[in-house]
Amino acid sequence: MEACNAHGVYCVPLYDTLGAGAIEFILCHAEVEIAFAEEKKVAELLKTFPKSTEFLKTIVSFGKVTQEQKEEVSKYGLSIYSWDEFISLAGDQEFDLPVNQRTDTCTIMYTSGTTGDPKGVLISNASIICLIAGVDRLLNSVNERLEETDVYMSYLPLAHIFDRVVEELFMFHGASIGFWRGDVKLLVEDIGTLKPTILCAVPRVLDRAKISAGGFIKSTMFNLAYKFKQFRMMRGAKHNEAAAICDKVVFSKVKEGLGGNVRVILSGAAPLATHVEEYLRVVTCAHVLQGYGLTETCAGSFVSLPNQMSMIGTVGPPVPNIDARLESVPDMNYDALASTPRGEICIKGETLFSGYYRREDLTEEVLVDGWFHTGDIGEWQPDGSMKIIDRKKNIFKLSQGEYVAVENLENIYGVVSAIDSIWVYGNSFESFLVAVVNPNKEALESWAEGNGTSGDFEALCENPKAKEYILGELSKTGKEKKLKGFEFIRAVHLDPVPFDMERDLITPTYKRKRPQLLKYYQGAIDNMYKSAK
Ligand code: AMP
Repeated sequence: MEACNAHGVYCVPLYDTLGAGAIEFILCHAEVEIAFAEEKKVAELLKTFPKSTEFLKTIVSFGKVTQEQKEEVSKYGLSIYSWDEFISLAGDQEFDLPVNQRTDTCTIMYTSGTTGDPKGVLISNASIICLIAGVDRLLNSVNERLEETDVYMSYLPLAHIFDRVVEELFMFHGASIGFWRGDVKLLVEDIGTLKPTILCAVPRVLDRAKISAGGFIKSTMFNLAYKFKQFRMMRGAKHNEAAAICDKVVFSKVKEGLGGNVRVILSGAAPLATHVEEYLRVVTCAHVLQGYGLTETCAGSFVSLPNQMSMIGTVGPPVPNIDARLESVPDMNYDALASTPRGEICIKGETLFSGYYRREDLTEEVLVDGWFHTGDIGEWQPDGSMKIIDRKKNIFKLSQGEYVAVENLENIYGVVSAIDSIWVYGNSFESFLVAVVNPNKEALESWAEGNGTSGDFEALCENPKAKEYILGELSKTGKEKKLKGFEFIRAVHLDPVPFDMERDLITPTYKRKRPQLLKYYQGAIDNMYKSAK
């Protein structure tokens, strides 16, 4: 991508999990002429024939190419090269680099999209430069300066804007970038080898990191040190001597588990559960930041400040170089001028995208007078940070006419420690909500142990008593948070397998694909409604 950009050619990243349909759509919509692919993904590209051959002229494999692939491609009059063949094409020729303009398109990032066709977000060179300059200022403000010795390890979906801008930031400073091998089982090994100084991840990976600390969490020493340090941090005394001793004696083990050199952990692309964030802030001995943004805003538009514990659960203040404001949403009772201002987050500034490629209609819907309407509902905090509380689009009425904002509920129920993930479902023909839950394995097994229930994790998920237990935990939180009656979950289905991309239930950035979830769990949903009435 960097080489193409240097030569004034922009790139259109393809998520490998998009599936042939979406890949075909993007190749044709963006009129892609040359496609680069991992050796094992060349076959995926060929599945888009013959449609994509209207524009596609050349395919380059980052590895080898088989004889059958060569024959298949030549049938359609295209060329295909192995990496070695491609590299040797230029021979000894030298090429002058063109002068790129700020307004030139740097990339068209198709958003994974939870519904409808992917949208091509046009990102200019200026957007990326402006974003990087802002993030750099922000890091400097907490005395973090990137150096050539820094190592960034990416666990992010590579084609996502979040990864792209972090990579640019590192290259700008001459620092190194390491890529994990893409296999969760080898993640710890990869971390140990690369010893990253900056770790960027989507929340799901960080949730797992918390779980994988496993037995260690349970030691008395750990718990005491945790409570003590948390207490000090809440009072703004992160660097006092006593807390430093906790780091040295107890939490250095966690730091070692992350390679030993991590200074900053940045989570983004989806909400990070408050308890995971707090835990990471206490035990990793690193600055933990949560960022918020969209592909359309060139990733990070808000980032929390690491040494402000009061910002836990928020995405912090806006990054430098952007303007942000809230707009009231009367339908949902969100008032931007109330004493606690709530409303749709709108963003303005040079980091914004230039529009959706060939979809002026969609661009006009979200870009009004230069303000980009994110569709996310935020609540300004008195300290200037923003809390994401809801999403404008995921709102529906139950049969009794009460509006339900499911994402808000999922955020509330998401803090229940007995569960890893929850998808809340309801519709306008029903009067109550049901949910599919990925229970927390440790929590469910320890409940079973204490309640004389036997069976492995899969069997427990089928057990009616286990369902009752999870339902009870959800209700407890519902009561604590003073939810309204119709916002309580009346039945759960427990799935031991986390919502995953393989079953097309989440996007590469772990957002729930609601229509697909409904299709997949339709049977379970019907049963829940039948049994709970
Ligand atoms: P994408 O363009 O795929 O990155 O998706 C952008 C959407 O991700 C936003 O509109 C938010 O709904 C969600 N999002 C990103 N970061 C966060 C965060 N830190 N907390 C909550 N939601 C987030």
